[in-house]
Amino acid sequence: MSPIFMALLLVTGWGIFAYSARRRWKLLMVGAPENRFDRPAERLRRTWTYAIAQLRMRRYPLAGAAHMLIFLGFGVLLLRTLILWGRGFDESFNFRLFGPDQLLGQTYSFFKDIFAVFVILGTLVFLYYRVIKRLGRMTLSTEGLVILGIILAMMVADILYDGASIAGKTKTPSVFLVYEPVGSVLAQSLYGWDPFTLSILKHVGFWTHSTLVLLFLNLLPYSKHFHVITGIPNVYFQSLHSPGRLPPIEDIDGRLEREETLGIRRIDQFSWKSILDFYTCTECGRCSDHCPATKTGKKLSPKHVTLDLRDFLYNQEKALVADKINGDAQEHRKDLVDGVIDPEVLWACTTCRACEQECPVFISYVDKIVDMRRYLVQERSEFPAQLQTAFRGLESNANPWSFPSDDRAKWAEGLDVKTLAEHPDARVLFWVGCAPSFDERAKNVTRATVKLMQLAGVDFAILGTQEQCTGDPARRAGNEYLFQTFAKANVEVLNGYAVDKKKIVTTCPHCFNTLLNEYPDYGGKYEVIHHSTFLAGLIAQGKLKPSRRVDKNVVYHDSCYLGRYNEIYDAPREALRSVPGLTVLEPKATRDRGMCCGAGGAQMFKEEEPGTERVNIARTQQLLETQPDVVASACPFCMRMLTDGLAAHNRESIPQLDIAEILLDSM
Ligand code: SF4
Ligand code: SF4
Repeated sequence: MSPIFMALLLVTGWGIFAYSARRRWKLLMVGAPENRFDRPAERLRRTWTYAIAQLRMRRYPLAGAAHMLIFLGFGVLLLRTLILWGRGFDESFNFRLFGPDQLLGQTYSFFKDIFAVFVILGTLVFLYYRVIKRLGRMTLSTEGLVILGIILAMMVADILYDGASIAGKTKTPSVFLVYEPVGSVLAQSLYGWDPFTLSILKHVGFWTHSTLVLLFLNLLPYSKHFHVITGIPNVYFQSLHSPGRLPPIEDIDGRLEREETLGIRRIDQFSWKSILDFYTCTECGRCSDHCPATKTGKKLSPKHVTLDLRDFLYNQEKALVADKINGDAQEHRKDLVDGVIDPEVLWACTTCRACEQECPVFISYVDKIVDMRRYLVQERSEFPAQLQTAFRGLESNANPWSFPSDDRAKWAEGLDVKTLAEHPDARVLFWVGCAPSFDERAKNVTRATVKLMQLAGVDFAILGTQEQCTGDPARRAGNEYLFQTFAKANVEVLNGYAVDKKKIVTTCPHCFNTLLNEYPDYGGKYEVIHHSTFLAGLIAQGKLKPSRRVDKNVVYHDSCYLGRYNEIYDAPREALRSVPGLTVLEPKATRDRGMCCGAGGAQMFKEEEPGTERVNIARTQQLLETQPDVVASACPFCMRMLTDGLAAHNRESIPQLDIAEILLDSM
């Protein structure tokens, strides 16, 4: 076509892109080091599942299909673009075996045409969401429309090039090239046009497509569409740890004492992977759409946490990169908290993981939010006043309510429960937890669980006064030091009784999660079983036989730390369904989309942000919509929140029961 112009176009387009990519790379390298290069096979498996097959997008059928069409179309059309660029130098250019007379070339040409139409359809779906439906969760910027316009124009230009080429080469209107179906359809309407006009159309199509591809490429690093480039790497480098494990602030060798600041104070203290997260956000808003804090009117919107951090990062780019080179730090030393992120935003998070579960590109939130809380708590001693009471209780009595630690096993009086000190050979350690030890309502669940284990002949014991809080509320509230104190002390006690050779059963999903997923970092690797799983197992083995009919409709509420954190959804339902006559109801928001009760992430120990709806009231409303006779849960925190929620709705007449209580009632 025009070798000189094509050479200029390619050199300019790729040159500018190389400059932008280098800028983004240097900024990425400003982040703290983090090893995300382990277990490549697992990473590739997840990349295939979530980035290529886009499993998470199946929750959004139309948008998911549109994404898939555009994604596949781009993959197929990449080769076409290379061929067109080659034709800028030699009009008959084709890659070997891809000539118009070769089977491979014709096959490719056929699919290329089909996928060009797919991309057009996908783009129209996105335009529908942006222009007609105007989904509130999305960022409806002009930039998005420009990018969609470019994609649409690229495809139309490609078809125009083909159509004008076919019409120019063939004189007979009846000729239809099966291997270029879409171009042939267009050619039908162009037959008879004079050769000069056809040549102009062909050139317009050719240069429009060739140029727009480069324009599109160069807009990516400066737009939310950067995810077209960073999305697959971001999925590949996702955390492979259990989501229930918060990354330790240190690595058990005393780094806690050596760290310059505890937690995240500055933007460059986030790791390079966090910066990749910032680059990758598509601004789709699915995270905020499912966030209980956003839903109830709190200042926290996870999408905006990412966007605010990303914008700040971009604004400070020059200073950050210069400081990285010079080993100095100036302007970007501004505290993120207050400076960029309002502390109220951080304290509104229940750590429920709904945002992370929903994000199609695996952007993490809980670790970032807790890291900023760590800085607030440990460096600035700034946190909601009510948390001070919980911290004091933990420090003085090893429970957040300051109940005397000597009373920890009082619930067991009269139940013939032995401690491990009395019965060290017990096969099961029943880890009771703070709320189930001290809270009057939760103690009922503890006793019910004990009675069920006794009925099933389980050989178990408790730690009694040797048990302390796992440290979960302290850790989620940012008090890492306090958490570690408990983790190390508990692991020492547990290992002293060789609990690594026993099973641990607990009724509390927070204890369950911390013992299972976080204590391994401190030398405690245990088989931990939530009581829902354990009881369902005893029923399956025939050791427990619920027989008394309970003719009730029971709605089950999923605990975040059981469900989204540890994928335990079926066991509580199986246990409930084993009760004759009982019907399990599902709220609209259920299982991995279940709404948080509002207690996690240390929210249980602080007031909700004033002037906003309470999360537990909103969740209880969802449960009430199923018109249940009973509201069931499997977590002492959820129990407290839902009981309060029922009271707020003036529905105290509906019992709020743990699955253990329902089972015991049926025995
Ligand atoms: S973890 Fe839950 S509360 Fe926190 S930002 Fe995510 S969705 Fe919102
Ligand atoms: S963080 Fe994920 S879910 Fe939230 S807006 Fe960005 S891409 Fe969408």
